[in-house]
Amino acid sequence: MLSCQSVAVSYAAGRIVSMPLVKVDLDVAAGETVALMGPSGSGKSTMLRVLSGLQKPDRGSVRINDTPIRTSRGTTDPRVALVHQDHRLVDFLSVRDNLRLALEVRGVAFQPDRIEEALASVGLADKMKRMPQALSGGEKQRVALARALVVGASVVLADEPTGALDRANSESVAALLRGLATRDDVCVVVATHDHNVAQMMDRTIVLQDGCAIAAETLV
Ligand code: ADP
Ligand code: MG
Repeated sequence: MLSCQSVAVSYAAGRIVSMPLVKVDLDVAAGETVALMGPSGSGKSTMLRVLSGLQKPDRGSVRINDTPIRTSRGTTDPRVALVHQDHRLVDFLSVRDNLRLALEVRGVAFQPDRIEEALASVGLADKMKRMPQALSGGEKQRVALARALVVGASVVLADEPTGALDRANSESVAALLRGLATRDDVCVVVATHDHNVAQMMDRTIVLQDGCAIAAETLV
């Protein structure tokens, strides 16, 4: 269970202070998928960074299974994998080595079987030796998901993962996120503008005036 209580984040740029997150409360159960919506600038990326441990909130707490999230500069909590819109694969490493690097970074021993399994689960077992530039946008995003999966994260956060994809690829990425949640009991939170993607998740939360509101309660 991912749990976030009374989270507040403000940014100061000179004399101007903005407060995208005022009081965010959110619980995501293991195996649950949540779409995080809201207009550009509403704080979705900020929220995901806070949930991942990359950014410390001004106030409030984030816990995974009742243990506080670890916030240290530049890295996420080891229990969390964060997937970006631009997938952030390492260009000069093959698909397999991108996954291998993710394991190394987390201090997990290199396990070829685990890498193959993760790539197979996103339908890319046959592209293991490809370089990222030889993949389509949808395939790159699937590699990024496999990378999140291979490290055994219990929380997967995706920041507009389908923002650069067409409808068919968006649906396939959303379906993979769902599958990951149900199969591995992972908590999934996806920031998205795409109602189609949101509909494939268990529920939708909208960031409005700095709070997380259940979409069905909005008029
Ligand atoms: P979203 O992902 O929903 O578009 P963001 O979390 O990126 O929203 O941004 C929320 C608000 O916080 C925006 O007004 C943005 O300009 C501001 N913001 C985000 N990051 C920073 C930063 N590092 N410094 C100052 N302001 C920021
Ligand atoms: Mg954003």
